[in-house]
Amino acid sequence: MSKTIAAISSGNAPGGIGVIRISGDDAIKIASHVFKPFDNSELTELKGYRAKYGNIIINGSKADNAVALVFRAPKSYTGEDVAELSVHGGLLAIQNTLQAVFDAGAQPAEAGEFTKRAFLNGKIDLTQAESVASMISAQGQAELKASFNALQGVLSREINSVLEKLLDMSALMAAWVDYPDEEIPELENEELEKTLDEASKTLAKLLDNYDNGQTVTCGVNTVIAGRPNAGKSSLMNMLSKTEKSIVTHIEGTTRDIVEDSVRLGDIVLHLKDTAGLRKSEDYVESIGIEKAHKAIDEAQLVLAVFDSSQAITNEDEELIDKCRGKNAVAVINKTDLKSEIDTAVIENAFESVVYISAKNGEGYEELCNAVNNVLGIADFDSNAPLLANLRQKQNCQRAYENICAAIDALKSGMTFDAINVMLDAAADELLSLTGKKATTEVVNNIFSKFCVGK
Ligand code: GDP
Repeated sequence: MSKTIAAISSGNAPGGIGVIRISGDDAIKIASHVFKPFDNSELTELKGYRAKYGNIIINGSKADNAVALVFRAPKSYTGEDVAELSVHGGLLAIQNTLQAVFDAGAQPAEAGEFTKRAFLNGKIDLTQAESVASMISAQGQAELKASFNALQGVLSREINSVLEKLLDMSALMAAWVDYPDEEIPELENEELEKTLDEASKTLAKLLDNYDNGQTVTCGVNTVIAGRPNAGKSSLMNMLSKTEKSIVTHIEGTTRDIVEDSVRLGDIVLHLKDTAGLRKSEDYVESIGIEKAHKAIDEAQLVLAVFDSSQAITNEDEELIDKCRGKNAVAVINKTDLKSEIDTAVIENAFESVVYISAKNGEGYEELCNAVNNVLGIADFDSNAPLLANLRQKQNCQRAYENICAAIDALKSGMTFDAINVMLDAAADELLSLTGKKATTEVVNNIFSKFCVGK
């Protein structure tokens, strides 16, 4: 018997509607203490997937109008009986109803407990559970799409197809070893090798795609660099569409690093607008400049801004040097003014150059394309199965290594039971990835990162 839990599932901000989710054996009974349908029917008699309109009753008095939804186990999010009360979305109204639900016998749900129950009840696997968290936190379209694909089981299916091959093969080999006298058809090494090869290729593709997937889904640490007045803050503002960076014509205005996350096309850039790179006598400014150098060294992407209305200076050349070997886009700004810059110098130094007017908001599309090309994600297929995090990657990596070792062992004529040890190890890794064999520690760790109510 599972204890019945409850929480606000619609977040802790006022809204039109607030949803309280109750899950567990007594969910519907508890909801029926707090909610009375207008038609005087009993919520406990209601079939699954049905709704009633009625009153929230707190301490015997009507407190709100609400809709109650009933789900019957196992056909619910958690796989248990679930009742959801949609009340008016003022925080006080929701909290009062939640308290009434607790008073009627529910316990406060822990972070991620609804989804954890869904996992433990076999409604979803671990990759799908993780995708629920990333759907909630997604900032960019690509991350949202990738998370939804994972929720629909795109990654699980890919992993399970490999797992099936490994388990079939392992069973055949074990039978061959354990029952040598039985009429088991001879296993062809070539056939075995082909199957293992296919399995390893599927995992290799997932691993190859991991870095690009992370870039697309987690965002890119990006530095906007350039000499004072090139237009760095204006570019940041153009991207973030706010006045986050202070724009003035006085050199050295941006003394520290201003940060913001912005969407560029489908991806998210975690932007740092840095102090202009130049020699400065001002102590505070020179600390900012030092930080700017460090930020460029650590960045995954540099947007190097040049002022097209002026000739190239030593500081520009310093920036050009600093960008060598980095993922960098040269952004030639102020195209609305008469050009004085020798663009050939920049075109020769950078793989990717775009011309913009930050002031007029021109060149946005070109910048999107240039960034995608430089990061190597222009052809990224966000419908493909994707390993979402380091945990999944490590399981996949170890499974891949075991399969490769099994292929080598097969080629060098090792015995089937020795090879089987490697296949079983690979299968175990994939079972941990999808959660069928994950340790309690791993599972608890995953769900502790969820918010309460999910
Ligand atoms: P930062 O020091 O590199 O951050 O440069 P700012 O963004 O503060 O811009 C410096 C000056 O250049 C300001 O007066 C801006 O209005 C101006 N500026 C920035 N971008 C453009 C542009 O595209 N065209 C023109 N005409 N002026 C710009």
